Amino acid sequence: MGFDISGTKPEGEPGSYFRNNGNLWLPLWSYICQNCKFLTDEEIDRGYSNSYEWIDEASALRIADRLDERLATGEVTEYEIYFNRVKDTVPDKTCHLCEGGGKWLDAAFKAAWARAENLTEAECENCPQCNGTGKLRPFERFFTENVQEFAIFCRASGGFYIG
Ligand SMILES: [Zn+2]
Repeated sequence: MGFDISGTKPEGEPGSYFRNNGNLWLPLWSYICQNCKFLTDEEIDRGYSNSYEWIDEASALRIADRLDERLATGEVTEYEIYFNRVKDTVPDKTCHLCEGGGKWLDAAFKAAWARAENLTEAECENCPQCNGTGKLRPFERFFTENVQEFAIFCRASGGFYIG
């Protein structure tokens, strides 16, 4: 799942478009919500899904100010360190593609994958998502540069849709 964040009255290129995959956006939005208590409950909830929630220009500017403040004090980087420390303690997840078995569940998909990858079916015995282990590390990521880029987008966006 990806998130396309579109500026509604962009001041040039940096404010027109911002994209994150879900593993990046969801932790970023969570951080924004923790630090921007002026957002409404509805804005907060809908920002976690592709529901085209609209954040108006005044709120976009307040978010940008708050993020720039936290970036300047080093709090964003501290949060990044904290986030990764917590992530390291989280157990592996069960692979969603093979449901933990490490093998393809669907013979037709396996055959299509083999054709697409130019492999024999024997060469792609294992689930390609987890390489046959049945487990995956959590994917969520949070890093300072992503917050910087979003703050720049946010300031120039004129308000934005989260879709
Ligand atoms: Zn798997």
